[in-house]
Amino acid sequence: MKDVIIIGAGPAGLAAAIYTGRKRLSTSIISIDIGGQGNLTSHIENYPGALPQTGPELIEKFQTQAQKFGAEFVFGKAIKIEKTDNNFQVTMGDKSTHEAKSLILTFGKVPRQLGIPGEDEFFGKGVSTCATCDGPLYKDKIVAVVGGGNSALEAANDLSHFASKVYLIHRRQEFRADELTIEKTKNNPQVELVLDSVPIEINGDKFVNTVVTENKITKETREIKIDGLFLEIGSVVDTSIIKDLADINEHSEIIINERCETSCPGIFAAGDVTNTPFKQAIVAAGEGAKAALQTYTYLTGSKATLDWKK
Ligand SMILES: Cc1cc2nc3c(=O)[nH]c(=O)nc-3n(C[C@H](O)[C@H](O)[C@H](O)COP(=O)(O)OP(=O)(O)OC[C@H]3O[C@@H](n4cnc5c(N)ncnc54)[C@H](O)[C@@H]3O)c2cc1C
Repeated sequence: MKDVIIIGAGPAGLAAAIYTGRKRLSTSIISIDIGGQGNLTSHIENYPGALPQTGPELIEKFQTQAQKFGAEFVFGKAIKIEKTDNNFQVTMGDKSTHEAKSLILTFGKVPRQLGIPGEDEFFGKGVSTCATCDGPLYKDKIVAVVGGGNSALEAANDLSHFASKVYLIHRRQEFRADELTIEKTKNNPQVELVLDSVPIEINGDKFVNTVVTENKITKETREIKIDGLFLEIGSVVDTSIIKDLADINEHSEIIINERCETSCPGIFAAGDVTNTPFKQAIVAAGEGAKAALQTYTYLTGSKATLDWKK
Protein backbone atom coordinates (compact mmCIF):
# COMPACT_ATOMS: atom_id res chain seq x y z
CA MET A 1 0.00 0.00 0.00
CA LYS A 2 1.49 3.30 -1.13
CA ASP A 3 0.49 6.78 -0.05
CA VAL A 4 0.10 7.73 -3.68
CA ILE A 5 0.11 6.15 -7.10
CA ILE A 6 0.82 8.47 -10.01
CA ILE A 7 -0.39 7.15 -13.38
CA GLY A 8 1.69 8.53 -16.26
CA ALA A 9 5.36 9.54 -16.33
CA GLY A 10 5.31 12.57 -18.59
CA PRO A 11 6.25 16.06 -17.34
CA ALA A 12 3.17 16.23 -15.06
CA GLY A 13 3.68 12.82 -13.44
CA LEU A 14 7.44 13.20 -12.97
CA ALA A 15 7.04 16.68 -11.44
CA ALA A 16 4.33 15.31 -9.11
CA ALA A 17 6.70 12.50 -8.07
CA ILE A 18 9.45 14.99 -7.17
CA TYR A 19 6.99 16.81 -4.91
CA THR A 20 5.40 13.73 -3.28
CA GLY A 21 8.91 12.31 -2.74
CA ARG A 22 10.12 15.46 -1.03
CA LYS A 23 7.02 15.31 1.20
CA ARG A 24 8.05 11.75 2.15
CA LEU A 25 4.90 10.23 0.69
CA SER A 26 5.59 6.70 -0.54
CA THR A 27 5.07 6.94 -4.30
CA SER A 28 4.71 4.58 -7.25
CA ILE A 29 4.59 5.85 -10.81
CA ILE A 30 2.77 3.48 -13.13
CA SER A 31 3.51 4.27 -16.75
CA ILE A 32 3.77 2.84 -20.22
CA ASP A 33 6.94 4.84 -20.79
CA ILE A 34 9.00 7.59 -19.23
CA GLY A 35 8.57 11.00 -20.80
CA GLY A 36 5.29 10.73 -22.69
CA GLN A 37 4.92 13.43 -25.31
CA GLY A 38 8.11 15.00 -23.91
CA ASN A 39 9.96 12.31 -25.86
CA LEU A 40 8.40 13.46 -29.12
CA THR A 41 9.81 16.97 -28.91
CA SER A 42 12.96 17.20 -30.99
CA HIS A 43 13.78 20.69 -29.79
CA ILE A 44 12.38 22.29 -26.64
CA GLU A 45 13.31 25.90 -26.09
CA ASN A 46 10.48 27.28 -23.94
CA TYR A 47 11.09 25.37 -20.70
CA PRO A 48 12.49 27.96 -18.26
CA GLY A 49 15.92 27.15 -16.87
CA ALA A 50 16.60 24.54 -19.51
CA LEU A 51 18.48 25.89 -22.48
CA PRO A 52 17.36 24.54 -25.86
CA GLN A 53 17.72 20.78 -25.86
CA THR A 54 15.83 17.72 -27.00
CA GLY A 55 12.71 16.55 -25.17
CA PRO A 56 14.34 13.25 -24.11
CA GLU A 57 17.31 15.18 -22.62
CA LEU A 58 14.96 17.27 -20.49
CA ILE A 59 12.93 14.22 -19.47
CA GLU A 60 16.07 12.40 -18.33
CA LYS A 61 16.65 15.22 -15.83
CA PHE A 62 13.05 14.99 -14.60
CA GLN A 63 13.46 11.23 -14.14
CA THR A 64 16.77 11.48 -12.27
CA GLN A 65 15.23 14.02 -9.92
CA ALA A 66 12.10 11.92 -9.31
CA GLN A 67 14.22 8.84 -8.58
CA LYS A 68 16.44 10.83 -6.23
CA PHE A 69 13.40 11.46 -4.04
CA GLY A 70 12.37 7.81 -3.97
CA ALA A 71 9.79 7.39 -6.73
CA GLU A 72 9.34 3.73 -7.67
CA PHE A 73 8.57 3.04 -11.34
CA VAL A 74 6.16 0.31 -12.42
CA PHE A 75 6.08 -0.16 -16.20
CA GLY A 76 2.88 -1.12 -17.96
CA LYS A 77 -0.56 0.13 -18.85
CA ALA A 78 -3.17 0.84 -16.18
CA ILE A 79 -6.45 -0.59 -17.47
CA LYS A 80 -8.79 -0.22 -14.49
CA ILE A 81 -9.18 2.03 -11.45
CA GLU A 82 -11.47 1.05 -8.56
CA LYS A 83 -12.33 2.50 -5.19
CA THR A 84 -11.82 0.02 -2.33
CA ASP A 85 -13.13 1.31 1.03
CA ASN A 86 -10.96 4.39 1.56
CA ASN A 87 -8.28 3.38 -0.93
CA PHE A 88 -7.83 2.91 -4.66
CA GLN A 89 -6.82 -0.13 -6.67
CA VAL A 90 -5.15 0.08 -10.06
CA THR A 91 -5.21 -2.98 -12.32
CA MET A 92 -2.54 -3.36 -14.96
CA GLY A 93 -2.68 -4.93 -18.42
CA ASP A 94 -1.02 -8.10 -17.04
CA LYS A 95 -3.77 -8.21 -14.33
CA SER A 96 -1.38 -7.33 -11.47
CA THR A 97 -2.85 -4.82 -9.00
CA HIS A 98 -1.46 -1.91 -7.01
CA GLU A 99 -3.12 -0.11 -4.12
CA ALA A 100 -2.74 3.40 -2.68
CA LYS A 101 -4.49 5.88 -0.42
CA SER A 102 -4.63 8.45 -3.21
CA LEU A 103 -4.11 8.78 -6.95
CA ILE A 104 -2.62 11.45 -9.17
CA LEU A 105 -3.72 10.96 -12.77
CA THR A 106 -1.25 12.33 -15.30
CA PHE A 107 -1.76 10.05 -18.27
CA GLY A 108 -1.72 12.86 -20.82
CA LYS A 109 -2.51 12.23 -24.43
CA VAL A 110 -1.93 9.27 -26.68
CA PRO A 111 -1.25 9.39 -30.41
CA ARG A 112 -4.40 9.12 -32.55
CA GLN A 113 -4.63 5.96 -34.64
CA LEU A 114 -6.27 5.31 -37.99
CA GLY A 115 -8.36 2.29 -37.02
CA ILE A 116 -7.64 0.41 -40.26
CA PRO A 117 -6.74 -3.24 -40.90
CA GLY A 118 -3.07 -4.05 -40.23
CA GLU A 119 -2.48 -1.05 -37.97
CA ASP A 120 -2.42 -2.94 -34.65
CA GLU A 121 -0.74 -5.98 -36.20
CA PHE A 122 2.21 -3.96 -37.52
CA PHE A 123 2.45 -1.43 -34.69
CA GLY A 124 6.14 -1.45 -33.73
CA LYS A 125 6.85 -3.53 -36.85
CA GLY A 126 7.00 -0.63 -39.27
CA VAL A 127 4.05 1.37 -37.99
CA SER A 128 5.15 4.15 -35.64
CA THR A 129 3.76 7.29 -34.03
CA CYS A 130 7.17 8.83 -33.36
CA ALA A 131 9.28 9.91 -36.33
CA THR A 132 11.78 11.54 -33.95
CA CYS A 133 12.30 8.26 -32.09
CA ASP A 134 12.19 5.74 -34.95
CA GLY A 135 13.27 7.78 -38.01
CA PRO A 136 16.97 6.83 -37.79
CA LEU A 137 15.99 3.15 -38.22
CA TYR A 138 14.90 3.86 -41.79
CA LYS A 139 18.21 4.81 -43.38
CA ASP A 140 17.94 4.33 -47.18
CA LYS A 141 14.43 2.85 -46.81
CA ILE A 142 11.08 3.97 -48.17
CA VAL A 143 8.63 5.42 -45.68
CA ALA A 144 5.25 7.15 -45.66
CA VAL A 145 3.90 9.78 -43.29
CA VAL A 146 0.16 10.23 -42.70
CA GLY A 147 -1.14 13.68 -41.78
CA GLY A 148 -1.34 17.28 -42.91
CA GLY A 149 -0.38 19.37 -39.89
CA ASN A 150 2.95 20.79 -38.77
CA SER A 151 4.05 17.57 -37.07
CA ALA A 152 3.36 15.49 -40.21
CA LEU A 153 5.23 17.89 -42.49
CA GLU A 154 8.11 18.23 -40.07
CA ALA A 155 8.26 14.44 -39.77
CA ALA A 156 8.36 14.07 -43.58
CA ASN A 157 11.23 16.56 -43.84
CA ASP A 158 13.11 14.99 -40.91
CA LEU A 159 12.66 11.50 -42.33
CA SER A 160 14.01 12.62 -45.70
CA HIS A 161 17.44 12.93 -44.02
CA PHE A 162 17.42 9.15 -43.46
CA ALA A 163 15.00 7.56 -45.90
CA SER A 164 15.57 7.34 -49.65
CA LYS A 165 11.96 8.35 -50.30
CA VAL A 166 9.08 9.73 -48.23
CA TYR A 167 5.42 9.65 -49.25
CA LEU A 168 3.23 12.18 -47.48
CA ILE A 169 -0.36 10.95 -47.42
CA HIS A 170 -2.95 13.61 -46.64
CA ARG A 171 -6.72 13.53 -46.93
CA ARG A 172 -7.00 17.06 -48.40
CA GLN A 173 -5.17 19.29 -50.89
CA GLU A 174 -4.44 21.98 -48.29
CA PHE A 175 -2.14 21.51 -45.32
CA ARG A 176 -2.77 22.84 -41.81
CA ALA A 177 0.82 23.87 -41.19
CA ASP A 178 2.79 27.10 -41.24
CA GLU A 179 3.69 28.50 -44.66
CA LEU A 180 7.44 28.01 -44.24
CA THR A 181 7.06 24.31 -43.43
CA ILE A 182 4.61 23.79 -46.31
CA GLU A 183 7.02 25.43 -48.75
CA LYS A 184 9.96 23.40 -47.45
CA THR A 185 7.97 20.16 -47.82
CA LYS A 186 6.74 20.94 -51.32
CA ASN A 187 10.28 21.79 -52.40
CA ASN A 188 11.78 18.66 -50.87
CA PRO A 189 12.70 16.40 -53.84
CA GLN A 190 12.54 13.27 -51.68
CA VAL A 191 8.96 13.90 -50.57
CA GLU A 192 6.10 12.75 -52.84
CA LEU A 193 2.68 14.14 -51.96
CA VAL A 194 -0.25 11.72 -52.05
CA LEU A 195 -3.14 14.14 -51.65
CA ASP A 196 -6.91 13.77 -51.22
CA SER A 197 -6.04 10.28 -50.03
CA VAL A 198 -6.39 8.17 -46.91
CA PRO A 199 -4.72 4.89 -45.95
CA ILE A 200 -7.26 2.06 -45.86
CA GLU A 201 -5.07 -0.98 -45.24
CA ILE A 202 -1.57 -1.85 -44.06
CA ASN A 203 0.00 -5.06 -45.33
CA GLY A 204 3.15 -6.97 -44.59
CA ASP A 205 4.79 -10.16 -43.57
CA LYS A 206 6.86 -9.85 -40.40
CA PHE A 207 7.15 -6.12 -41.06
CA VAL A 208 5.16 -3.62 -43.09
CA ASN A 209 5.48 -4.01 -46.88
CA THR A 210 2.77 -1.83 -48.33
CA VAL A 211 0.08 0.69 -47.51
CA VAL A 212 -3.08 0.88 -49.60
CA THR A 213 -4.51 4.36 -50.07
CA GLU A 214 -7.85 5.46 -51.43
CA ASN A 215 -8.35 8.73 -53.27
CA LYS A 216 -11.36 10.32 -51.60
CA ILE A 217 -12.51 12.01 -54.80
CA THR A 218 -11.88 9.39 -57.51
CA LYS A 219 -12.18 6.38 -55.12
CA GLU A 220 -9.14 4.92 -56.88
CA THR A 221 -6.89 2.76 -54.72
CA ARG A 222 -3.12 2.61 -54.86
CA GLU A 223 -0.75 0.13 -53.19
CA ILE A 224 2.48 1.86 -52.17
CA LYS A 225 5.56 -0.17 -51.30
CA ILE A 226 7.00 1.04 -48.00
CA ASP A 227 9.23 -0.10 -45.14
CA GLY A 228 7.74 2.19 -42.51
CA LEU A 229 4.54 4.14 -41.89
CA PHE A 230 4.49 7.11 -39.54
CA LEU A 231 1.16 8.30 -38.14
CA GLU A 232 1.25 12.04 -37.45
CA ILE A 233 -2.46 12.70 -37.05
CA GLY A 234 -2.55 14.31 -33.63
CA SER A 235 -3.36 12.88 -30.26
CA VAL A 236 -6.39 12.10 -28.15
CA VAL A 237 -7.22 11.95 -24.47
CA ASP A 238 -8.36 8.50 -23.32
CA THR A 239 -10.05 8.77 -19.94
CA SER A 240 -12.16 5.63 -20.24
CA ILE A 241 -10.55 4.11 -17.11
CA ILE A 242 -11.67 6.99 -14.88
CA LYS A 243 -14.99 8.11 -16.36
CA ASP A 244 -17.05 6.11 -13.83
CA LEU A 245 -15.24 7.66 -10.84
CA ALA A 246 -14.58 11.27 -11.78
CA ASP A 247 -16.27 13.88 -13.96
CA ILE A 248 -14.95 14.41 -17.46
CA ASN A 249 -15.86 17.12 -19.97
CA GLU A 250 -17.06 16.96 -23.59
CA HIS A 251 -13.45 16.62 -24.79
CA SER A 252 -12.97 13.58 -22.50
CA GLU A 253 -10.65 15.62 -20.26
CA ILE A 254 -10.74 15.11 -16.49
CA ILE A 255 -12.32 18.14 -14.84
CA ILE A 256 -10.17 19.59 -12.04
CA ASN A 257 -10.39 22.67 -9.87
CA GLU A 258 -7.55 25.12 -9.21
CA ARG A 259 -6.12 22.67 -6.64
CA CYS A 260 -6.08 19.79 -9.11
CA GLU A 261 -8.89 18.00 -7.26
CA THR A 262 -11.23 15.86 -9.33
CA SER A 263 -14.87 15.25 -8.38
CA CYS A 264 -13.73 12.11 -6.51
CA PRO A 265 -12.05 12.82 -3.13
CA GLY A 266 -8.57 11.29 -3.07
CA ILE A 267 -8.12 11.44 -6.84
CA PHE A 268 -6.13 14.35 -8.25
CA ALA A 269 -5.14 15.04 -11.85
CA ALA A 270 -2.71 17.24 -13.76
CA GLY A 271 -1.36 18.00 -17.21
CA ASP A 272 -2.72 17.32 -20.69
CA VAL A 273 -5.29 14.78 -19.45
CA THR A 274 -7.18 17.55 -17.65
CA ASN A 275 -9.34 20.49 -18.69
CA THR A 276 -6.49 22.90 -17.85
CA PRO A 277 -5.86 25.12 -20.88
CA PHE A 278 -2.47 25.44 -22.64
CA LYS A 279 -1.07 21.98 -23.18
CA GLN A 280 2.60 22.65 -22.59
CA ALA A 281 5.38 20.90 -20.68
CA ILE A 282 5.85 23.76 -18.22
CA VAL A 283 2.11 23.94 -17.53
CA ALA A 284 1.90 20.16 -17.04
CA ALA A 285 4.89 20.17 -14.67
CA GLY A 286 3.46 23.08 -12.66
CA GLU A 287 0.08 21.39 -12.37
CA GLY A 288 1.83 18.15 -11.36
CA ALA A 289 3.48 20.01 -8.49
CA LYS A 290 0.11 21.46 -7.42
CA ALA A 291 -1.57 18.04 -7.55
CA ALA A 292 1.18 16.58 -5.37
CA LEU A 293 0.92 19.34 -2.76
CA GLN A 294 -2.86 18.97 -2.65
CA THR A 295 -2.46 15.19 -2.26
CA TYR A 296 -0.21 15.84 0.74
CA THR A 297 -2.88 18.13 2.24
CA TYR A 298 -5.54 15.43 1.62
CA LEU A 299 -3.48 12.65 3.22
CA THR A 300 -2.16 14.54 6.24
CA GLY A 301 -4.87 17.11 6.86
CA SER A 302 -2.02 19.62 6.88
CA LYS A 303 -3.11 23.21 6.74
CA ALA A 304 0.42 24.37 5.93
CA THR A 305 0.82 26.11 2.62
CA LEU A 306 3.83 26.98 0.55
CA ASP A 307 2.61 30.54 0.15
CA TRP A 308 5.61 32.31 1.61
CA LYS A 309 3.80 35.20 3.28
CA LYS A 310 0.91 33.28 4.85
C1 LIG B 1 5.55 16.82 -31.20
C2 LIG B 1 5.31 17.60 -29.92
C3 LIG B 1 6.09 18.72 -29.64
C4 LIG B 1 5.87 19.46 -28.47
N1 LIG B 1 6.67 20.54 -28.21
C5 LIG B 1 6.56 21.20 -27.05
C6 LIG B 1 7.43 22.29 -26.73
O1 LIG B 1 8.31 22.66 -27.51
N2 LIG B 1 7.25 22.91 -25.53
C7 LIG B 1 6.29 22.53 -24.62
O2 LIG B 1 6.22 23.12 -23.55
N3 LIG B 1 5.46 21.51 -24.90
C8 LIG B 1 5.55 20.83 -26.09
N4 LIG B 1 4.69 19.81 -26.38
C9 LIG B 1 3.61 19.49 -25.43
C10 LIG B 1 4.13 18.74 -24.20
O3 LIG B 1 4.96 17.66 -24.63
C11 LIG B 1 2.93 18.22 -23.40
O4 LIG B 1 2.12 19.31 -23.02
C12 LIG B 1 3.39 17.51 -22.14
O5 LIG B 1 4.21 16.41 -22.46
C13 LIG B 1 2.18 17.01 -21.32
O6 LIG B 1 2.65 16.33 -20.23
P1 LIG B 1 1.75 15.28 -19.43
O7 LIG B 1 2.65 14.72 -18.37
O8 LIG B 1 0.49 15.90 -19.04
O9 LIG B 1 1.36 14.13 -20.48
P2 LIG B 1 2.21 13.23 -21.48
O10 LIG B 1 3.48 13.87 -21.85
O11 LIG B 1 1.24 12.89 -22.55
O12 LIG B 1 2.55 11.92 -20.62
C14 LIG B 1 1.59 10.96 -20.32
C15 LIG B 1 2.23 9.73 -19.72
O13 LIG B 1 1.19 8.80 -19.33
C16 LIG B 1 1.50 7.50 -19.79
N5 LIG B 1 0.24 6.78 -19.96
C17 LIG B 1 -0.80 7.07 -20.80
N6 LIG B 1 -1.82 6.22 -20.61
C18 LIG B 1 -1.43 5.37 -19.62
C19 LIG B 1 -2.04 4.27 -18.97
N7 LIG B 1 -3.27 3.87 -19.25
N8 LIG B 1 -1.33 3.59 -18.02
C20 LIG B 1 -0.07 3.98 -17.70
N9 LIG B 1 0.56 5.03 -18.27
C21 LIG B 1 -0.11 5.72 -19.22
C22 LIG B 1 2.30 7.73 -21.07
O14 LIG B 1 3.07 6.59 -21.38
C23 LIG B 1 3.14 8.95 -20.67
O15 LIG B 1 4.28 8.54 -19.95
C24 LIG B 1 4.88 19.05 -27.55
C25 LIG B 1 4.10 17.92 -27.80
C26 LIG B 1 4.31 17.20 -28.98
C27 LIG B 1 3.47 15.96 -29.25
